[in-house]
Amino acid sequence: MRSAIVWQNPHITQGRILVEAEPLALMDRHWQDKIDKTESGGILLGYRRGAHLHVTMATKPQAADRGWRYLFKRSARYHQEIAFHQWNASERTMDYLGEWHTHPQHYPSPSATDISEWRKICSQRQTPMMFLIIGWSGELWLGLSREIGIEQCMVIST
Ligand SMILES: [Zn+2]
Repeated sequence: MRSAIVWQNPHITQGRILVEAEPLALMDRHWQDKIDKTESGGILLGYRRGAHLHVTMATKPQAADRGWRYLFKRSARYHQEIAFHQWNASERTMDYLGEWHTHPQHYPSPSATDISEWRKICSQRQTPMMFLIIGWSGELWLGLSREIGIEQCMVIST
């Protein structure tokens, strides 16, 4: 199991994005490292603290999701139920921070479909959202939104 990773918030110099080891381990179980493995994903949950985002949980793929080799469609309902449960259980402090999904690429990068889907999510929310893609060997791409613009984040430490 790898350790937590910290990225720079591309919009605010002092801001950091921390993803804990546990959500990384969950995502690492879904690498598309074989030809028949389809895309999968979920949502990222955690805390907003000023310019910082702290991811403590990722939801695992759900039975109602649809995955193909080069496309993933997350079901709305089950991931949202988990998010709502966590929000209540944390006295309404644990928040929906963003989305993750896999790509069959060594160095993943967002597709045009990803960008347009993410923009829809951003247009419905007032707060910055993060979007993480994980490649077939664990390479990560992370973007953070400001309004509907999404900028790639640089890793500070692992
Ligand atoms: Zn994608």
